[in-house]
Amino acid sequence: MFTPLKPIKIDSIYNGLLPDRMAKCTPDMYAAIFALKSRLRSLNSDLVLSDLFRSYEMQFQAHADYVSGKKSAYSPPPGGSMHEAGRAFDLELKLIKKIGLTAFWPIAATFGLKPIINRPDIGLNEAWHFDCRGSHQLVYDYYVARNGDNFASPYTAMAASAIISIGQKVDALGDNVLAGYIQSGLIRLGQNIGDLDGVIGPRARAALTALQIDPSAPIDTIADAIDKKLQEKFPTEFFTPGTTVAADAAPSRLIVNLHATAAVSTSGQAGLQTYRPDPATLQNLGSIVDQLQQATVISNSFVNPPRLLARLQSGELYLDSNLELDTDGWPGGGDQGDPDWQASTSLECPNGDALNANEAPYFVLPLPTTWAAQFGISLGDYAAVFYKQFLAYAVFGDYGPKNKLGEGSIELLRQLGQERIKNNGQVINAGMGPGVITIVFPGSGAAADRTSQATLLTMINQKGPALLGALKAAPVANAA
Ligand SMILES: [Zn+2]
Repeated sequence: MFTPLKPIKIDSIYNGLLPDRMAKCTPDMYAAIFALKSRLRSLNSDLVLSDLFRSYEMQFQAHADYVSGKKSAYSPPPGGSMHEAGRAFDLELKLIKKIGLTAFWPIAATFGLKPIINRPDIGLNEAWHFDCRGSHQLVYDYYVARNGDNFASPYTAMAASAIISIGQKVDALGDNVLAGYIQSGLIRLGQNIGDLDGVIGPRARAALTALQIDPSAPIDTIADAIDKKLQEKFPTEFFTPGTTVAADAAPSRLIVNLHATAAVSTSGQAGLQTYRPDPATLQNLGSIVDQLQQATVISNSFVNPPRLLARLQSGELYLDSNLELDTDGWPGGGDQGDPDWQASTSLECPNGDALNANEAPYFVLPLPTTWAAQFGISLGDYAAVFYKQFLAYAVFGDYGPKNKLGEGSIELLRQLGQERIKNNGQVINAGMGPGVITIVFPGSGAAADRTSQATLLTMINQKGPALLGALKAAPVANAA
């Protein structure tokens, strides 16, 4: 029941570890904190916190101090801060100054950590604050799309959802914590129930029925059923990484999830010793080739097994495979080419438009959605894709069959030097490869990046190079 809060031992600005009352967070935030700390240390910086969890009472006091002028930094009243959900931290900015906030943001994004301000200006209030939104991003998106309108902002709705999900009361959601939790769960499971308001109405009941949950069952039975579905869909938010994670280690390497469809293999590690990327890609890959020595091989049973499927030490997914052709979302693909063509893509713009495979460079990852989620990857995340001397950037735009790995859009193949549309408009229904290397950056996407396909195309080419640059700049850790 509920998202657990995990005690954490983490360096603070208060002469030692963060005090116990603040030192709690969700499992996905826990993993993000140590992965980020490890990355910062490799850059001769560090992650030191001044704030993490705040109880209702602590948030009440922080708001009162702001109102009375005792503290100048804005603190919202209880119910509106991601700190109350164990999903926000404030970091010591001094340690980031050398790297600069502009370079730091894409690094934080790699671990699913989002800033709360709009531009990377280290002088701004709240430049120190980062959120781990997890699946509550879906509640944010839901309010951006105006499916509900009872909160001051999509951010406040997201915070309410995150807080109720750890079993904490939120004033705006009334006295019944379970009702609010069920509603938050329904929204995150893709249902449209109108407002998140703590009242299970006809739309929520219809949504429960759609999910094959009996709406007339006792409320805790319903909450348990929702809980089970949430755990399956968002396992990293519920389950603690590894069992023997040292406080100062990077648990991203050790995430072995019981609910995952692919387990981290130890026997497959030997494959790393013999693996060599196509020599023509080496110049673009740079230091990533060295980082491969610290990677964790991921076992799999795909129909055409990739040459290598692994997770880099800093969390990125590394895939060397063929790239099959996906024409989904391209209107021209309806009556030719792939017989499994679909008009839609899993990633859509807010107006419901699909990505057009002939315009947007996107890549495909297999269903179920938990496969990508176990690596912290969601739709809209970015990747760098290498083939021979070509380097392209792409977005995670579509889910594909569960037994296939390695698929990209017409435009992605085009950017990798492989045109698949003939002059007469006919599509050549053929993939490319072998030797296509895809490096996916978990948690790098943002809803604000894809208000339209045009905006998304700009962001792919803005964020892609920044993410790759930050990865290549990270010094390689010693084998010890
Ligand atoms: Zn904060």
